[in-house]
Amino acid sequence: MLIGNTGFILILKEQADQELIRLASYDDLTGALNRRVFFKEAKKCLLDGSKNKKPISILLFDIDYFKRINDKYGHDVGDQVLRELSRQIREYISEGHYFSRFGGDEFAILLPETNEEEAMKLAWEICNGIEKQSLTEGELSYTISMGTLTIIPTIETELETMYVACDKALYEAKRNGRNGVSRGFLSIEGFEDTRLSQIN
Ligand code: GH3
Ligand code: MG
Repeated sequence: MLIGNTGFILILKEQADQELIRLASYDDLTGALNRRVFFKEAKKCLLDGSKNKKPISILLFDIDYFKRINDKYGHDVGDQVLRELSRQIREYISEGHYFSRFGGDEFAILLPETNEEEAMKLAWEICNGIEKQSLTEGELSYTISMGTLTIIPTIETELETMYVACDKALYEAKRNGRNGVSRGFLSIEGFEDTRLSQIN
């Protein structure tokens, strides 16, 4: 009986530990990975990429004029948009991809072993797909802007540097009118300017 009870307690502890890990890894509202865990996983992927010399892509995106949605429909509807967007994103990504909420209305997807053409294709599919969706019986639609970056990492590649370049591309997509994708670049000396992708 003692052995049986001990086994039961161990199972409960295991379940409680799993729950703690889940709570510490995912964003409550959207169920996406939190930024800390995303960065941890991304660093592992970068290291793998530098060993096997495979490309890796990051998509960084942000809802357009999200403040207006909160102002017009209220914070709860804003939350609904964040949840619905996350649900939609999961339909576009596959096993081995990492989806994270970075905070507020900013999200990221890490695509290991994905080249630039594949990343841009997916970026535009997501962007165009989100534009077609709506909430509150068709009344509320929203769009996103996205920055992308693809590199073949070396052992020196820093995730933070990639993030800065990708964020710059996202800013470019906003500047170019939103509801679009802009590609980011890394250069040896620093960051080159991004330019709006011609692929649509
Ligand atoms: P832009 O197109 O330039 O991105 O304009 P924007 O209005 O979306 O500006 P920004 O991305 O800076 O605004 C993010 C807003 O998201 C600000 C904040 O009020 C709102 N927000 C942040 N976290 C939450 C949340 O958890 N729920 C809701 N409903 N709103 C949030
Ligand atoms: Mg926004």
